[in-house]
Parts: sequence; structure tokens; C-alpha cells
Amino acid sequence: MPVCPNCLYEYIEGITICPDCNAVLVDSEDLPKFEDLSEKDWALIFTTDEEYKADMIKDYLESAGIESMIMSQKDRNFPAPGNLTIVKLFVRKEDMPDALSFIQELGKDKQKNGEDSFE
Ligand SMILES: [Zn+2]
Repeated sequence: MPVCPNCLYEYIEGITICPDCNAVLVDSEDLPKFEDLSEKDWALIFTTDEEYKADMIKDYLESAGIESMIMSQKDRNFPAPGNLTIVKLFVRKEDMPDALSFIQELGKDKQKNGEDSFE
């Protein structure tokens, strides 16, 4: 079964390019098992429907030396128009406490400045 390594959508046999992001599809057998990833090394730290927020936090975390990974998934089962992307930000489990307090600090700063919090 061909799978897009970016969107993680599965496609029928014979399709080689993801219609959504133009990535070359890989066989689902070759795809690193995301379940394994999240169980062993990575912990979900932040979920949003705004990709730029995840990008922003990723940048902040990286500037603090914390490695992170963004997984975004569009909900194509939902027929309504609009932005239905679910963006998840993962950090390594050992970085989780640091990353969490970092994001909390980030949220406080934003509120102080009268901007939107990350909630
Ligand atoms: Zn794709």
C-alpha cells in the first residue's frame, strides 16, 4: 500500500505521487512506524490547528537546544471547508519536562504582551 511520508495518507496501488503535497509515495512497509516512534522516543507536547504556531514553537525549542518534530495531518473525512489540519509537535521524551516548562514560559510572555496564548 503506497503511503505519503508527509501526510501519512494511504493510496491505492499504482499511485506514486501524493496529490496533496507531491511527495513520492513510499510503501507502507518502508515507512518508519510512527506508533513505534511516539512510544519509544517521542512524546506529544503540543497540538494545534495552526501550523505556524507549531513552527514557531519548534523554532523556539530549537533555539533552546531542544529537538522537535512536527507531524501534520489533514482531516479529509471532514467535509466542511476551512482549515482542518491537525498539527502535532513532538519532542524527545527526555526533553519533555524542559520543553513543557519552556512552552509554559512562552505562553506567559505572550499573555504579558497582550497577544494570544498558545492554548
Ligand atoms: Zn502528501
